[in-house]
Amino acid sequence: MRSLRTKMVMIMVLLILALMTVVGSFLINGVGNYYIEDFYVQMEQTFSQDFISQLQALAATDDGPGQMKQLLMSRSELGIDLSRRNVYILDSQGQVLDSSNQSSSVSITSNILQAMNGEVGQSVSIASNIMDLAVPIQGGSEDYIVYVLDNKDTVNALTSRLFSIILQSLVLGLGICVVLAFLLSQILITPIRALTAGTRQVAAGEFSQSLDVTSRDEIGMLTRNFNHMSQVLQSTISQVENERNKLSTLFLHMTDGVVAFGPTGQVIHHNPAASRMLSRSLSGEEAFDGIFGREASFEKLLTLKRSEYLECQKRVGDRELELFMAPFSADKTGGGVMVVIHDVTEQRKSEQTRREFVANVSHELRTPLTNVKSYAETLLDAGDDLPPELKRNFLSVIVSEADRMTRIVKDLLTLTKFDYGKMEMNITRFPFAEAVKNVHQAVALDAKNHRHTLTLTCPADLPAIHGDRERIEQVIMNIVSNAIKYTADGGQIDITAGTRGDQVFVNVTDNGIGIPEKDLPRLFERFYRVDKARSRESGGTGLGLSIAKEILTQHQGDIQIESVYGQGTSVTVTLPAAREEARETP
Ligand code: ADP
Repeated sequence: MRSLRTKMVMIMVLLILALMTVVGSFLINGVGNYYIEDFYVQMEQTFSQDFISQLQALAATDDGPGQMKQLLMSRSELGIDLSRRNVYILDSQGQVLDSSNQSSSVSITSNILQAMNGEVGQSVSIASNIMDLAVPIQGGSEDYIVYVLDNKDTVNALTSRLFSIILQSLVLGLGICVVLAFLLSQILITPIRALTAGTRQVAAGEFSQSLDVTSRDEIGMLTRNFNHMSQVLQSTISQVENERNKLSTLFLHMTDGVVAFGPTGQVIHHNPAASRMLSRSLSGEEAFDGIFGREASFEKLLTLKRSEYLECQKRVGDRELELFMAPFSADKTGGGVMVVIHDVTEQRKSEQTRREFVANVSHELRTPLTNVKSYAETLLDAGDDLPPELKRNFLSVIVSEADRMTRIVKDLLTLTKFDYGKMEMNITRFPFAEAVKNVHQAVALDAKNHRHTLTLTCPADLPAIHGDRERIEQVIMNIVSNAIKYTADGGQIDITAGTRGDQVFVNVTDNGIGIPEKDLPRLFERFYRVDKARSRESGGTGLGLSIAKEILTQHQGDIQIESVYGQGTSVTVTLPAAREEARETP
């Protein structure tokens, strides 16, 4: 590869060579012509009609040739100097009769031949190395030819001198030219080199650099455009980068799983949610058929149109997964398949719970309604035939069933309010011990009726708590009522309150019927009852513990149930105590 510098030097050298050749040849030619013209002008001026007549007169004398030579040599304007310009007197045959340089012969030129024919010979060729003039002179008896010959030595000396001057100046010019070309090319090459380095950096991904614009010419404009281009590139690339980051963050954190398969069915991308849902690590080794082979055919998916997709279900362990599969075209070489995985386990569970809940509610309401209807119908049918005592009994059943329905509806409303976050809490700061004591007082009579021994251990300095007093008392009441309900008459029920770290607790222990171990995890489900008949009998709705759990969750509290079937149950409620400093502020 020839560098720009070499090219410039070569151009300059060629230019100088061409210029010097043209100038030199014009100069040398011009000087030669000038001399030739000068020679003939001199000859014309000398060989006037008068002078020719004089020569003719001398030719007619005895020593014609000698006389003529004398006259010719005496004419200084002819410039006869013996070394380069001589005069010859020839006879009509071209033989030398006399000459200024005593030479006895002369070569016959075209001009001499012309003079032999009686005309003045004065033609000349620039290429010839002589200039000559032949003038025919008629003597009395003989004809002569006066022949002036210039060997062009002066012209040749001058042109060769001129040639050497031109050659010298050519060499000098070339030298200057090479130096100038080097310097000038430096001006051009420096910004081009900077641009080359710049483009290399851009290709390596370094866009922040900006090149100095040192001129206003085309290279300056190119540099400016380059700077602009790298700025635009930088902003475009950072935009693309941002978009990519956004997408990869989305991909990483989205709750739905995404797996992309390449044209051969290998995993090419996947997000953490996908491997979590499928319970397997998705490396590039994994193939579509190994993961979703049972649900769909990869080849069939590839033939789908872009707008089409396939929806199917998959079960992984206890997870229910919904799969959406669609083809995508990666590039011209082939596409792939994108699978979006949606975990519908919770959705299905909550649908199931909702269905069960509706069934439970209908069932719970239907039993008292049936009772109310049948008692009311009996009353209507029998009318006054019924003894007043039985009538009263029937009516009291109707009232108690109506009360039961009211309780169920009230509890359901409370739960629904929690579900929709619409439960309004009247949060105050109150002594926890007081709430416990209030409940103890309220249930004392009921416990006595069942001949239970009810004890209360509650330190006087229990910290206060922040919360809805009525609801917290409702929680404790539900637990103590359960202990009374599910303990055979004459049982032992102990209520113990205290502190554990920065929490207060109340524990209700009974020696009642207890709860089988398998039922323990389900106690907080709505309408869940271990002993349905007993619960209903004692006016329970099966919602008490669910409501207690909801209220405690709202108070950042907790409820734990331990039980041994047939021996007794221990229920503990914990709640965060109000902070010490807050206690001092009234
Ligand atoms: P219910 O209105 O039926 O009492 P709960 O939600 O309060 O409903 O209690 C759910 C079930 O848990 C009860 O039906 C009962 O079978 C069981 N249970 C609750 N407390 C006790 C206890 N102290 N001893 C035995 N079983 C209990």
